[in-house]
Amino acid sequence: MLKPNLLEYILVKFIFFAKFALLIGRKRMENINELKTLLSTPKDIVITTHRNPDGDAIGSSLGLYHFLQNSGLHNVKIVSPSEYPENFDWMPDVKKIVIYDDEPERAKKIIEDSAIIFCLDFNSLDRIDKVGEIIRPLRTPKVMIDHHLFPESFADFILSEPKASSTCELIYDFIEKLNQKNHLDEKIGNCLYTGIITDTGSFKYGTSVKLFRIVAELLDVGVRDYILQDLIFNSMQEKHLRLLGHCLSQRLKILPEYKTGIITLTKEDYQTFEIQRGDTEGIVNFILKLKDVKMAAFIMEQPTIVKISLRSKGNFSVQEIAKKHFRGGGHKNAAGGASFQGLEETLERFEGLLPRYKNVLNAV
Ligand code: 5GP
Ligand code: MN
Repeated sequence: MLKPNLLEYILVKFIFFAKFALLIGRKRMENINELKTLLSTPKDIVITTHRNPDGDAIGSSLGLYHFLQNSGLHNVKIVSPSEYPENFDWMPDVKKIVIYDDEPERAKKIIEDSAIIFCLDFNSLDRIDKVGEIIRPLRTPKVMIDHHLFPESFADFILSEPKASSTCELIYDFIEKLNQKNHLDEKIGNCLYTGIITDTGSFKYGTSVKLFRIVAELLDVGVRDYILQDLIFNSMQEKHLRLLGHCLSQRLKILPEYKTGIITLTKEDYQTFEIQRGDTEGIVNFILKLKDVKMAAFIMEQPTIVKISLRSKGNFSVQEIAKKHFRGGGHKNAAGGASFQGLEETLERFEGLLPRYKNVLNAV
């Protein structure tokens, strides 16, 4: 016979696991039919994505936007917390995106008037600042489609897959789950391809057999990959290339003992090179080109915070460092965060962390 307190213990555990199982059930979009029903009648729909949107954020938002618009049923809007980088200017209907920073009242009204809220390429509402504060109290059905680790469970429908290369890959999966792959067209394909190549560094990481099959299908619907490569990656202004040169020749510090490379940018650099949002995108990846570097850090002094971008090779997780020490997160090999100290102090703090990771960094 079980002792009463043991019985109670087992009961509590059982309830906990039952709740957990329910949560997981909700998380895996098993209730896709419910969402299908919601999408089968005309709706006002808003798509949101993370602050400082990158190719995957913009590509997944516009890909889903065109997919939903093509149905002819819905009135779809995209709200981004902040401006997108210039090299995505060519994307179909990108100019229709409502930027919260520019038009806060209009953005708020669009969100509040919507019957479904899609949250793409971010895993917690605090990643979208004020837009998140607007969304959190709303009882509107929320759909999260994302590939970051450790999703917060704020959404009613969650398609979260950290193994996916990009949120764009998951938008493809979503369309497939809705049995509507026949609705894919060149416009949607161009948007999804953009997120896939930007998040995989043009197929250098996060790839899989499944991803290449998806990409082949995107080419089948008319995507011209070489044209997109030019539009996205060969569209730098002179200042971008000079900034890259400056970072690599003047601001790169290598710490061989820790297999780490660090680039720092000061406020003065921002002025000299007239750096705007998105101009520093991709610079951190150059540090990983060094054979003996396993971790790359890009530390930028911005007006109110110091922003940190981290990258790594192999099994070393920069997500953990970003989360533990810089109030951030992301993926195993690409993560970011922020510091509220000055640039020097932040650099010192970052370097101070390295000894505790020395063994792992040298083992990778
Ligand atoms: P990046 O270094 O290109 O800005 O970001 C790399 C990855 O880390 C992205 O997936 C991004 O979502 C994530 N990330 C960057 N900054 C932050 C942050 O401040 N907080 C969290 N949670 N994730 C971040
Ligand atoms: Mn992404």
